Amino acid sequence: MKVISFLSVLTVFLNFFSCKAQPVATSSVENKPLDTSTHRINQTDISNFTIDYLMGKFDPSDHPDFILIPAQYRDEEIRYIRKDVLKSFISMYDAAAKEGIYIKIRSATRNFENQKRIWENKWTGKTLLEDKMNAALDIKDDMSRAKKILEYSSMPGTSRHHWGTDMDFNAFENEWFESGEGLKIYSWLSNHGHKYGFCQPYSKMGTDRYAGYFEEKWHWTYLPVSTKLTEQAKLNLKNEMISGFLGAETAAKIDVVQNYILGISPACTSTKN
Ligand SMILES: [Zn+2]
Repeated sequence: MKVISFLSVLTVFLNFFSCKAQPVATSSVENKPLDTSTHRINQTDISNFTIDYLMGKFDPSDHPDFILIPAQYRDEEIRYIRKDVLKSFISMYDAAAKEGIYIKIRSATRNFENQKRIWENKWTGKTLLEDKMNAALDIKDDMSRAKKILEYSSMPGTSRHHWGTDMDFNAFENEWFESGEGLKIYSWLSNHGHKYGFCQPYSKMGTDRYAGYFEEKWHWTYLPVSTKLTEQAKLNLKNEMISGFLGAETAAKIDVVQNYILGISPACTSTKN
């Protein structure tokens, strides 16, 4: 009897900490001061990320596994990243800096609310697309509009930036990485990034992958953690869960889980490279 009652107390205790969703932050993470009053989830076991975590439904400024990126490694925006990712990034940064190569973090963790703002601004034409098209005015059909935005932006709930494992470096144009300083940085990352656990998930389309976002030479992922999250997404994330923003009804028809979340370079699906 004692064992049973102990187990039921333990179960209630574990349920409380593992199942309770954290409230979604309502303001910009990148400009938000530290708020220590929010409920915390103990997320130390990286083999068991919750669906809420996968979908960015937490506040990185108040998550025990996340830390503010020190100013010398990023641009002027306040940004958060997983502690394990920052540790490896700093080793990589130092090694590159010894060769006169300076990697600057331009984006890091973005939660569901951040991504919703980015997506809906494009959906409504408030922000123009990368090629200056206005998605709301120029693309009337919902499916075509969603696919156009998906060239470079994720639907809320499906971004690797939710995970705290992925970062954008230096510049948001592939061309910038094709000459001068940009080429030096890209070559260095391509040759040495893997030693520190980093990989480019959105590689050139048509070479090693055939679905998903366009190539992004600036976007790098930390494999020791993100391969586990990719696996979790593959097993547990369903298109029907992708909701709560303008245009979300296109998610299942597009099959965003298969074509976008899993549409990454095969080199970034395993740490054995
Ligand atoms: Zn990115």
